[in-house]
Amino acid sequence: MEFTLPVPDLGAERAGNTGTPGVWHFDSGVPGRALMVSALVHGNELCGAWALKDLLAAGLRPRRGSLTLAFCNLEAFDRFNLARHDASRFVQEDMNRVWSAERLDDPATADRRRAAELRPWVERADWLLDLHSMHEPGEPLLLTGVLPRNIALARRLKAPQHVIVDAGHKDGVRMRDFAQFGDPAREDACALLIECGFHGDPASRGVARDMVARMLIESGVAGTADLPPGWLLPDPAGQRVLEVTDAVVAPSMDLRFSEPWTGLETLEQAGSILGWADGQPIVTPYDRCTLVMPSLRQLKPGVTVVRLARDYAG
Ligand SMILES: [Zn+2]
Repeated sequence: MEFTLPVPDLGAERAGNTGTPGVWHFDSGVPGRALMVSALVHGNELCGAWALKDLLAAGLRPRRGSLTLAFCNLEAFDRFNLARHDASRFVQEDMNRVWSAERLDDPATADRRRAAELRPWVERADWLLDLHSMHEPGEPLLLTGVLPRNIALARRLKAPQHVIVDAGHKDGVRMRDFAQFGDPAREDACALLIECGFHGDPASRGVARDMVARMLIESGVAGTADLPPGWLLPDPAGQRVLEVTDAVVAPSMDLRFSEPWTGLETLEQAGSILGWADGQPIVTPYDRCTLVMPSLRQLKPGVTVVRLARDYAG
């Protein structure tokens, strides 16, 4: 698929209104939830930046509680090059693996230093929506983590169609799982990550706006009538909630798939061959196994090339 989503001009938006570059905060003065919407945690994922830019242009203000909009990894975004868009995912380190006090307190990389600037805004949010997009064309996916309160919120939002219950990455903590958002006791703190579709697909911008609209309404921060026209898309027919059970990690560069998997294929029989790594077959571990975000684009030893999921029973 061609990369046709334009690069947004963030010349005005990058100033912010808070003293933290790229961070906008609006307080209604009325009690209510503190909703944060973040974009550009990965510098090449433009749809979220578009959604925040569009929201600022529309002049939406919170009715209750507060609204924080964050353009996160601006330094990575500034390096965006259409010919090599994956190269601007981060500067030195993936910003979505540094969300632990230990890493945030250690300013070893540009990405950590930026995350540390954003940290107070993340810590004061009650609800977080983190806007992302994907290496490959595919259906939008809402990633909830394993906490039941986030899965329940995903169901109340009624979109997108596919909800993925995923544990964290073992190589580092995501913003979505930081502090209160990873605390099982903090029932009031909800965080969701949406993968809006392919990085370069103009439709991903519409998916991002739809999710922002749904979070604004569900949080009570805004009402339906406050939304810019056309932001809410029709509800999908029904949601499918899938629980990630396994990650297939490349042991070496010698890995290939048996089919050009695009994601969300469900393989009926346990033992179905997905591909081969170092000459050994990679097989599904159980019946009705669903593939989540297969990609060989970032292939190197230790990188997850596909996740495996089953229908969520909870
Ligand atoms: Zn991302």
